[in-house]
Amino acid sequence: MNLNWTPRVWSQGSADSGDLLSYPSLPELESFCRKLQSDFSGYVVLEEAGRSVRGQPIWMLTFTDQEVGDEDKQRVLMVGQEHGQERSASLALLELARWLVTPAADEIRRKQRIGLMPVANPDSWENLRFNNVNDVNLYADFSLDGDPTQPESQAVAEILELMQPELFCSLHGTEFGWKYRMGESNGFSWTTSQFDRTHSRLFIEELNRAAEAAGFPQDRGEEEAERILPWLPGNIHHSYYSGQRVTSCVHAYHRFHTLANTMEVHHPRSGLIRCRRMLELGNQPWRNEAVAGYPVRTMFQQDETFVAAYGQTAAERRASRVELWAHTNQFVVARGVNEPVGMALTAFSLDPGDYDRWRAAEIDPFLQKYGHDQGIDVSEIRAACRRYPRMQSLRCDQIKPVASDRARPLLRAAGHGLALRLRLPRLASPQRIWLDGRPIGPSPVDGYESWNTQNGFTMVQFNIPPRADSDGFQRHLIAVAYRAPRIDRAT
Ligand SMILES: [Zn+2]
Repeated sequence: MNLNWTPRVWSQGSADSGDLLSYPSLPELESFCRKLQSDFSGYVVLEEAGRSVRGQPIWMLTFTDQEVGDEDKQRVLMVGQEHGQERSASLALLELARWLVTPAADEIRRKQRIGLMPVANPDSWENLRFNNVNDVNLYADFSLDGDPTQPESQAVAEILELMQPELFCSLHGTEFGWKYRMGESNGFSWTTSQFDRTHSRLFIEELNRAAEAAGFPQDRGEEEAERILPWLPGNIHHSYYSGQRVTSCVHAYHRFHTLANTMEVHHPRSGLIRCRRMLELGNQPWRNEAVAGYPVRTMFQQDETFVAAYGQTAAERRASRVELWAHTNQFVVARGVNEPVGMALTAFSLDPGDYDRWRAAEIDPFLQKYGHDQGIDVSEIRAACRRYPRMQSLRCDQIKPVASDRARPLLRAAGHGLALRLRLPRLASPQRIWLDGRPIGPSPVDGYESWNTQNGFTMVQFNIPPRADSDGFQRHLIAVAYRAPRIDRAT
């Protein structure tokens, strides 16, 4: 990847010996940020995300085109230098800040809102302390359900809560320059957390390739080690083992189903190339999706059935995603098994009790009882299923719901909407599509949408609008009758 770019030389450290990176003093960092805001006031906003233990500001620069409404923008947060001496991470973000105000980033500013916190641990900036002044590892100062303990990590958590971003990156690195070796990597943590693994390896691979095309080799963690298991007691010799910490990336994924990426950045230019590649990808539809954005919409997938966020704008999909993600533990998905080519059927419920009621039910008696219980007419679907004698039973997802209304109140109806998807074979053409027994037409609001995915499937999405009131738990029956060419003959 060609990048016509001259990194800025800062006043501190050493710019040319290669022994140390040049870097800004904290006052220089602040004046750089202020100047960016005043020079590019239409799309740069500077604010304090919080203050450090010693009361130093933690700056956040936000880049977006303020003439374009926020409703349909992807949100991104990138944080550097949670570990004090890892200045190369900050430098990559400062280089990204310089790039984000150029015309090359016009389209990204129109479609995304990008927050950069280049220096998250200002108290440790000069003295190269790994932790903060209270000797706490800020990157690992998170827990599954509690709050971080330090003001710096609390600032990160508060911005995450405000943004609920589609993409979050924690950038790490070194204080040394090019004469020193340090591996670069994306999407996992070598030492801090075995949990810190991105959910989209293919997205991460795009970054690896962009960096490598520019001459910066990347480590691929589990793939290089050829060890895949998370730590299992007694089997660490077959594990990809690092720490067991809950990091800021784990926190973002766990709370908001954010695509989280821990990056090791030795060379600021390499970090810039990778960050830029991510932002470019966020302007495109990803693999299964029909609309542009980061791959965070799918909350669940089993075989051909997907549960996904609802909405026509990024903001609507975000609200739906965060709501559904908090309740994936109560999803029940029962799909027709031995499905022939030509018919697909799935029942979805938010009542964990349906798991035992639905599993291994015979299709026709199930449909009869379901129609009766839900007060809907399923006769067309029963007739369609009878044409396919191999479709005999329903099978629930292998993951038994573990919903507890003590831990978190059960969701009775999706207040931000729900999208269910059936993935059909290549080149399938839907003939008739039913939601809750009724045939439906195309509509992004309360009908279906259908598209061909980049990897060759046909996707049918059922758009189920927000429901504020529900007497009982929300349940749905989705079905598609379709035609598809024989795949071995398709061209
Ligand atoms: Zn680090």
